[in-house]
Amino acid sequence: MLTYIVLLGPPGAGKGTQSKVLASELDVPHISSGDIFRDNIKNDTPLGRLAHKAISKGELVSDDLTIAMLRERFMQRDCANGAILDGFPRNPVQAEALEELLNSFGGQVNLVLFITSPVKSLIERLAGRWTCQAQGHTYHECFNPPKEKGICDIDGSALYQREDDKAETVLNRIEIYQNQTAPLIKYYDERGILARIDGVESIEKVSAQLMSVLKC
Ligand code: ADP
Ligand code: AMP
Repeated sequence: MLTYIVLLGPPGAGKGTQSKVLASELDVPHISSGDIFRDNIKNDTPLGRLAHKAISKGELVSDDLTIAMLRERFMQRDCANGAILDGFPRNPVQAEALEELLNSFGGQVNLVLFITSPVKSLIERLAGRWTCQAQGHTYHECFNPPKEKGICDIDGSALYQREDDKAETVLNRIEIYQNQTAPLIKYYDERGILARIDGVESIEKVSAQLMSVLKC
């Protein structure tokens, strides 16, 4: 069966962290729209140059650019049997585009895992997040520290703090999430495919909740 799972939730809820666990358990790719944008910025591509301004301010990149980027990603072979989608869709227009895209090769969104967390802990998590240069692995200076400070456990690359994790940008991102992305909760709930996950627990406990939903 094709398995396309969307992780939904505010910035800092733990979508990236949990997507990696799920992708490895299910042996499907983890597609993070934010990671793809950041790679393009790092490599100074035309897409990276177009997206950089919006990302640095914590705003959403235009739907046209984002949907085209995801369409290209879905054309790669590794997505044929499923994928974990992290950060896409971010609004109802993108959700409709995703449905159309998956339908075009016989797929559909099977499950949406909505990770909830109070604003206070989102801010705390983003303020302490360290991201790896090479592949976007994430750590937290208190809750999930790397073995060696500043170095990724997995690939040995340097860790950095994201420009959009600055306090003032984080508040903007949370507001944008509430106005533009949160309507997707109702959108997917009405389709009967939304599961709510309590994201306040430890990383391991949240993973356990996700795995138990998958077994249902
Ligand atoms: P998102 O992808 O939703 O923006 P991340 O997965 O990058 O969020 O997590 C944000 C930060 O919070 C990271 O530093 C991560 O290590 C940390 N984190 C993720 N899940 C938890 C958790 N359940 N408890 C504590 N810290 C967490
Ligand atoms: P993330 O890594 O998911 O936190 O995303 C980082 C930033 O990339 C966001 O704040 C947006 O500027 C941009 N971005 C990521 N995904 C999308 C998307 N689906 N639509 C528009 N912008 C996005």
